[in-house]
Amino acid sequence: MVISVKTDKSDILALLRSSEDYVSGQQLCKQFGVSRTAVWKAINQLKEDGYEIEAVSHRGYRLLESPDVLSQSEVLSRLTTKWAGRTLHYLEETGSTNIDAKRCAEEGEPHGTTVIAEKQVAGRGRRGRNWESPAGSAIYMTIMLKPDFVPDKASMLTLVMALSVADAIAEKTNLPAGIKWPNDVVVHGKKVCGILTEMNVESDYIQYVVIGVGINVNNAAPEEFPEEIRDKATSLKIESGMTISRAELLERVLVHFEKNYDTFVRTLDLSLLMEAYEARLLNLGREVEVLDPRGAYTGVARGINGTGELLVETENGEMIEVYAGEVSVRGIYGYV
Ligand code: ATP
Repeated sequence: MVISVKTDKSDILALLRSSEDYVSGQQLCKQFGVSRTAVWKAINQLKEDGYEIEAVSHRGYRLLESPDVLSQSEVLSRLTTKWAGRTLHYLEETGSTNIDAKRCAEEGEPHGTTVIAEKQVAGRGRRGRNWESPAGSAIYMTIMLKPDFVPDKASMLTLVMALSVADAIAEKTNLPAGIKWPNDVVVHGKKVCGILTEMNVESDYIQYVVIGVGINVNNAAPEEFPEEIRDKATSLKIESGMTISRAELLERVLVHFEKNYDTFVRTLDLSLLMEAYEARLLNLGREVEVLDPRGAYTGVARGINGTGELLVETENGEMIEVYAGEVSVRGIYGYV
C-alpha cells in the first residue's frame, strides 16, 4: 500500500480541471516547484489513466475529458475536507476495505484515513452477510476513525454515515435519497448503499472504528445484480438515467461525513442530527416488521431516539426502543 501525500499528479489535475483555458508547462512548473520533465511525466501518467489532455505548443495543456475513475489522484484533486480522506489509499482490488482500514489503524495511520477500492472480492455486510462488489461501477470505501469517546457511542456512527451518504446522493443527483433504519440508503424503494461499522476496543477504550460504505453508482441495469438481490438492489444510474462521477460523489460523502461527525462529537449523541435523519427516514409513520432473533413483531415506526434506536409503537400502544445490533427491519409489504 502506498502512503499518499498530495501528489504532483493530483495537483496538476486539479489545476487543469479548474482552468477554462490552456495552462502552460511553465506555469505548472512554477506553481508546483517541479521540473519540466516532472510535469511531462505527470501529464503522461494522467493520459495513461484515461484522461484526455490536449497539448498545444506555445499554449500548454487543457483537460478535455475525465474518465469515471476513482483513483487516488482523481479523489485527492477534488478533496476539500480538513481530515476526512486526507490520507487516502486506492486499491484496484482488495478483499474488503474494512480489513485494509483496520490494518491502517494498527500501523498508526491518522484519524480519517480512507481506503477506496475499485473491486472487493470479499465485501461484507452486517452479521456475516456479503456485499456484492463488482468492478467499475460502484464506490467501496472505508473511513477509519480514532475517536476518544466510550465504545457504546460508536453504534451511532453508522446512522451518521447513512445520513451523510443520503445527503451526498441528494446533492449530486436529483434522486430522493431515503434511509431505511438504521443504515441502508434507499432510492425508490431499493437499496443503493450498505454500511458496515466495526470497532476495536481494548480495556474499555476504542482503539479505532472503521465505517465501510458500498454505493451502487453506475451499474447500468438490474441484470448486473445477482438474481437473489435484484428485487431490492438498485444503482443511482438505474434510478436517475444519468452517469454520476464516482470521485465527485465520494468527495461529497467525505465532506458530509466530516461535518456530521464533528456535529455528533459535540454532544456524543444524535440530538443535533436527529431532525435531518428523521427527514430522510423512510420507515417513519409506516408499519414495520422487526426481525428480532428472539421473536419477530410488528408496529409503527415513530422515529429515533437520541441514541439512534428506532421507536416502534406496537398494537397495544407500547413504545419499544429497537437497538440495531442484532435486528433487521422490513416494511410489512416489502423491503421498506
Ligand atoms: P437488510 O435490511 O438489507 O438485511 P442489513 O443492514 O442487515 O440490511 P447489510 O449488511 O447492509 O444488511 O447488507 C447486506 C445485504 O445487502 C445482503 O444480505 C444482500 O441482501 C444485500 N446486498 C448485497 N450486496 C448488495 C449490493 N451491491 N447492493 C444492494 N444490496 C446488496
